[in-house]
Amino acid sequence: MSQSIKLENIGCLVVEGNEGLDCKYGSSLTIEDEYIASIGSGNADTVIDCKDKMVTSGFVDSHTHLVFDTLRIEEHKLRLSGASYEEIAKKGGGIVSSVESVRSASPKKLFDKGYERLNRFLSMGTTTIEAKSGYGLDVESELKSLKVINELSDAHPIKILPTFMGAHAFPVEYKNKKDEYVSLIIDKMIPEINNKGLAKFIDVFCEEGYFSVDQSKQILEAGKSAGLIPRIHADEFYNFGASFLAGEVGAISADHLMKIDEKGIQSLKENNVVATLLPGTTFFLNKDSYAPARKLIDNKITVALATDFNPGSCHIQSMPFILTLAVMKMQMSIEEAFLGATLHGAQAIGLEDEIGSIRTGKKADLIVWDISDLSEIPYYVSNHPIRHVIKNGKLVFGS
Ligand SMILES: [Zn+2]
Repeated sequence: MSQSIKLENIGCLVVEGNEGLDCKYGSSLTIEDEYIASIGSGNADTVIDCKDKMVTSGFVDSHTHLVFDTLRIEEHKLRLSGASYEEIAKKGGGIVSSVESVRSASPKKLFDKGYERLNRFLSMGTTTIEAKSGYGLDVESELKSLKVINELSDAHPIKILPTFMGAHAFPVEYKNKKDEYVSLIIDKMIPEINNKGLAKFIDVFCEEGYFSVDQSKQILEAGKSAGLIPRIHADEFYNFGASFLAGEVGAISADHLMKIDEKGIQSLKENNVVATLLPGTTFFLNKDSYAPARKLIDNKITVALATDFNPGSCHIQSMPFILTLAVMKMQMSIEEAFLGATLHGAQAIGLEDEIGSIRTGKKADLIVWDISDLSEIPYYVSNHPIRHVIKNGKLVFGS
């Protein structure tokens, strides 16, 4: 039987306008099955009184590393006492330090930890995420991580788009034979993942000390040939042409971009690559230099915002906090930041026709807030004035 919900007495309904976002006051919204059926009219089985508060689309977090086992609290302590990311990596910290525990963890353990994290995402208004493998770094453990991501998406209200990221770092056993690891990714991992239909995207950490531009290109092209859509961790610590490569291989998104240069900007612009900015990572790593959001927006590049949630460089799950950072540290307006965290995030994972904004016919992924308009979000900083979250037309958080 079809389910219907009506949201009534909405204060500000944040909808797509001709340019950016509009606030529709005093409206109502009707949901039928999974979809937004009508705005401003209609009846339903269940009525939710929004008490003149704001209703928005749910957040789309287009960059997360959801599946990992142990936390890296010691590493954060080291960093706070002055050690750099590179120094920590040299001491055996960094990405590879998450690998051992993921390799030995049972799928159930990874699933249970992931599920708990998803509950936290949901309570903060996130209704869709992208999630990467990349802490397994061998055939078996990469497949295990991707299977867990797919199972979590089936089991939890949050929809998850899976990304294969075997090229997250070089595992220690391949430290001195890096090209062999690149071959392992191309010849073994990609075909297996493709056969089992476990991923939609392929991602590479194209960075000094990680994967070179040439290695990244080989991996992304191999992924593309297998039907995976490329995305890139680009220009985070150094600029050595990763953003340019994003344009060249037709990546859907280039992420981080703290060190992007003019050539990289032009490449993103000419090839319609979404720039996904992750200010939580800059904040968590205690750095001062945020990605040049204004410059990207002024160049008419679509800017998305995401958490980069991971155990090492950004243990942050809150999109409202990411919005706050975008407004306070990257000079984005609250409308730009909100679009980045919803519709542009959806574009970064190829789902902009289905989710990311409030429009008749789109999926009913919604947040009923306890505040009156978007500009109040940065005032609450780490507090989340969220009353209800609706995913696929179902009330999944708040009673
Ligand atoms: Zn990342």
